[in-house]
Amino acid sequence: MSREISLNPESLKSKDKQKSMLYDRKITCPVCENSFNARAIKKSSYRITKRDSDFFIRYSIINPYFYDVWVCDNCGYAAIKNDFLHLNEHDADTIRNKISPKWHRKNYPEVYDIELAIQRYKLSLLNYYVIDAKASKKAINFLKIAWMYRLKNDNENEIRSLNQALDNFSTAYYNESLPICGMDRYTTTYLIGELMRRTGKEEESLRWFSQVVTSTAASSRIKNMARDQKDLVKDFLKNKSLPSEGQPKKILKENKAHGLFVKFHK
Ligand SMILES: [Zn+2]
Repeated sequence: MSREISLNPESLKSKDKQKSMLYDRKITCPVCENSFNARAIKKSSYRITKRDSDFFIRYSIINPYFYDVWVCDNCGYAAIKNDFLHLNEHDADTIRNKISPKWHRKNYPEVYDIELAIQRYKLSLLNYYVIDAKASKKAINFLKIAWMYRLKNDNENEIRSLNQALDNFSTAYYNESLPICGMDRYTTTYLIGELMRRTGKEEESLRWFSQVVTSTAASSRIKNMARDQKDLVKDFLKNKSLPSEGQPKKILKENKAHGLFVKFHK
């Protein structure tokens, strides 16, 4: 308690609280066989405050997304935790040859923040590119990076990452078998529509929402969500076409030069 009074009380209090919600999971790295502790959140600590229309969940006090990526600090292998242990020998070899020689230990702190979360999501994305992982894995990774930028109110980087997520979800939709990232056909269709809407491709998004709305097989939950977003787009397009409107909202185009590969190994 005395510490809290003497130094930046709020952030210290919050950090202590977050620390009490964490525990260590012992993990053996499939690349270098080093065993390390992955930070994990006690299930009882989760508090959901809001769900966004592209499935982003907002939490209070502690954010599970911050702890979503596991990184082996010994060899540099990183992946979203559900993928981490599912690595074949060929891909492990690729990481040994292409990631590990350039890796410098990071000595991560006990409690993670948003900057670290973004850094770790980018590191796992780099690993996915190096092993040429499926588009769906890159898609969900890009989407989660976009969500972190949303939390930071960094619109430009959010839109850029949403565009990359959209590209990869579209590739996955046409080339991978369902479910994609745990989502059935209609949930994936809805999400592609929603990512189009959020990245300024409103007209195109309508076709995807309509596919869900008119389907006989989609669940009523996802149909309702698609109907709501379709109405939103229609209102938006109607307002946009009004002559009295001011400057059209600037739409950020996709930027392929994401700089991902330049920054990691410093
Ligand atoms: Zn390792």
